[in-house]
Amino acid sequence: MPDDPRHLVPRTDRVLDDPRLSGTLATVHRDVVRHWVRRAQERVRTGVLDPDAVVETVLDAATPRSARVINGTGVIVHTNLGRAPLADEARRALEDAAGCTPLELDLATGRRGRRAPGVTKALLARVGEAEDALVVGNGAAAVLLAVTSLAGGRDVVVSRGELVEIGDGFRLPELLTTTGARLVEVGTTNRTRIEDYAEALSPHTGCILKVHPANFRMSGFTASVPVHELVRLEVPVVVDIGSGLLTPHPALPDEPDAAGALTAGADIVTCSGDKLLGGPQAGILLGRSGPVARARRHPLARALRPGKLSLAALEATLLAPTTPVLSMLTADEDDLRRRAEHIAAQLPGDVTVTSCESVVGGGGAPEVVLASAGLALRAEAAPRLRSGDPAVLARTREDRCVIDLRTVRPDDDGALVRALRAAVPAG
Ligand SMILES: *Cc1c(COP(=O)(O)O)cnc(C)c1O
Repeated sequence: MPDDPRHLVPRTDRVLDDPRLSGTLATVHRDVVRHWVRRAQERVRTGVLDPDAVVETVLDAATPRSARVINGTGVIVHTNLGRAPLADEARRALEDAAGCTPLELDLATGRRGRRAPGVTKALLARVGEAEDALVVGNGAAAVLLAVTSLAGGRDVVVSRGELVEIGDGFRLPELLTTTGARLVEVGTTNRTRIEDYAEALSPHTGCILKVHPANFRMSGFTASVPVHELVRLEVPVVVDIGSGLLTPHPALPDEPDAAGALTAGADIVTCSGDKLLGGPQAGILLGRSGPVARARRHPLARALRPGKLSLAALEATLLAPTTPVLSMLTADEDDLRRRAEHIAAQLPGDVTVTSCESVVGGGGAPEVVLASAGLALRAEAAPRLRSGDPAVLARTREDRCVIDLRTVRPDDDGALVRALRAAVPAG
C-alpha cells in the first residue's frame, strides 16, 4: 500500500536533524520542538498535512506571538491587556530582581531579615495614615486575608448593596465563605442604614466588611453607611476600596482612597496594586498595627504571599514620581490632539484625526469619561494592526477603527507610526 499515509510520515529524528530547525533548537527546549514535530506527524498520518510541510509547520509553531501591545482602546486599565502598564522605574526593578536579590537578607548585617521591608516602608511613606502594611498576591487575596484573620469562623456583616460580582463570574461573597466565615447580609439592595448593621451585631460578629461597588453606580433612592459611622459600632471594620487609589485624586471625585478610609477609622483597608495604583498584580492591606500584624501571622498569609518580582515592581511603583496610569488619566486633550496630528502627518492614506472618549477601565470609576483625541482609519486595518509586533489594539466605532492616543505611551508614538505604515496601504 504505497499510498498509505503512514509510510510517508517523516521520522522524528530526521525532522529534528533538518538544518532548517537548528535555530529553533538553539532557542526552544528540545522536548517542546519534539512535541510540535509529533503533532505535525499526526496530521500527516490523518492526511491533512503534506509530509513535506512538517518542518515549515514546526517553524510556524516556533514563531513567537507578540507579547507587546500598544493599547489604542482608550481603556486606561485594560484587564485583557494585563491591567496597568508599568512605570520605567518598575521595569528596571524587575530586571534587577530577576537575578539574586536581597529579598530576605539585611545586607548591612549579613543576617536574615524581614521579607521585602522596602515595600512596607514605601507604602507607609505614601499613606501616612497607616500604621502597618502587608502585600499579597492580588486584591481578592487581600480581602480574603483581612476578613479571615479578623473574623475567623465568625460572622462577617455586609450590606446587600455591596455583595458585588467583580468580573468573570467572580463573586466576592462566595470567596469570603470559603474559609468558614459566615456572611450576614444587612439592608436592601438600594438602602442600608446604620440600624441595619447594629441589629445584626452579636457575640458571633467577627467584623464588618464595606466593599466599594467599583464597577457600577446606583442612583436614585439609595443610602449607604459611611466608614466613620460604621466604626462607632465598635467591631473591626474592613474596607475594600478596590482600585488602589492611595490618596484622593481630583480627576476621580467619587473614587474612595485608602487614606480617607483610614482617617474615617477603618481597621484595615484593602486594594489592588495594578488598577489605579499603576503597579504589578498585587493586593495591599493597610491599617492599624494590631489587625495588620494579625493578618501577617495568619497561616493563609503564607499561601497568598507574592513573589520577588511583584514585590520589586510594587516598591519601585510606589517610589516613582508618577505612573503611566496617572499620566494617561491626566493627559491634556489638546496635547493628545497635537500628537494625533503629528502622527497623521507622517502617514499616507486614509488616516484622520478624530475626537474620542477614554475610560478608566479595570472595573473602576464607571462614570468617568475623558474627552480624548486619536486616529481614525479603515476598519480593515484592525486585524493587520493586531498581528504586528508590537500589536496595536484599536476600538471599532461605526465602521472606522479608532486609536485613542490617551492610552498610547508617548514613547510608543514612533512604533505606532511604523505599525500604521505597515497596516494602512498608501493612496
Ligand atoms: C478589583 C476589585 C477586587 C479584586 O481585586 P483583584 O486585584 O482583581 O484581585 C476586589 N474588590 C473590589 C472592590 C475591586 O474593585
